[in-house]
Amino acid sequence: MTAIASNLGHVKGQLPATVTLVAVSKTHPPETVMEAYDAGQRDFGENRVQEMVAKQAVLPQDIRWHQIGSLQRNKVRQIAPFVHLIHSIDSLRLLEEVDRQAQLNGRVIDVLLQFHIAQEETKQGMSHREVDEVISAARVTGMDGIRIRGVMGMATFTDDEAQVRAEFRALREAFLRLKREHFAADDAFDTVSMGMSGDFVLAVEEGSTMVRVGGAIFGRRG
Ligand SMILES: *Cc1c(COP(=O)(O)O)cnc(C)c1O
Repeated sequence: MTAIASNLGHVKGQLPATVTLVAVSKTHPPETVMEAYDAGQRDFGENRVQEMVAKQAVLPQDIRWHQIGSLQRNKVRQIAPFVHLIHSIDSLRLLEEVDRQAQLNGRVIDVLLQFHIAQEETKQGMSHREVDEVISAARVTGMDGIRIRGVMGMATFTDDEAQVRAEFRALREAFLRLKREHFAADDAFDTVSMGMSGDFVLAVEEGSTMVRVGGAIFGRRG
C-alpha cells in the first residue's frame, strides 16, 4: 500500500459514511492524484483554475472536481464545462457568471455559499446579510444554471479548540436557518462543507457533511 492510500484509509476511518471526503490535491502533480484515484478516491479539490483545468485534461473523466478557492469571474468559463461543485461563491456577481456559463454549456452547476466565519480578516466569505441578499436575488432572476446545495466556511487557524468549534457550530446553524427560511422544500440543499486536515474531526462533530482534506492525505505541499 502506498503512503497516500494508507493516509486516505486513516482519514476515512475517522469519517462517518455519510460525510463526503474531498481530497485537496492543489500543488500536487497528476501522478500523485492518480495514487489517490487508484485507492478509490473520486472527489478532488483545487483552488486554482489553471491547475484544475490542466489536471482535468489528463486525469480520468469520472473524477469530480471541486473548486474550493476564491474564484475570479473571468475564469469561470474555463471550469464551467466540467466542474462538479463550486464551494466558494462569495458574491452575487460571481453567482450570476456561474449561472451564465452553466447555461452556455447546457449544464446546471452545483454551488455552495461561502460564509465568513473566522476571526481573521483575510478569510473570504459573506456575512449573513450578504448571503440572504444573494439568495433573494437568485430567486428573483430565476438562475436556471445553478443549484444552491448549501454552505461552506473556514475556521480560524488557531489551537483554540473552543473557538474553532464555535465557528463550525455557527456555520451549521446558518445552514439550518437558511434551510428553514429558503430551502425547506428543497432536498438538494443538504451540504455543509467545513473541516480541513487540522480540524475535520471537530467539524464532523459539529455537523459537517463534506470535509476538504489536503495535507493529511498528500503530505506537506511541495
Ligand atoms: C488548502 C485548502 C484546504 C485543505 O487544507 P489542508 O490543511 O491541507 O487539509 C481546504 N480548504 C480550502 C479552502 C483550502 O484552500
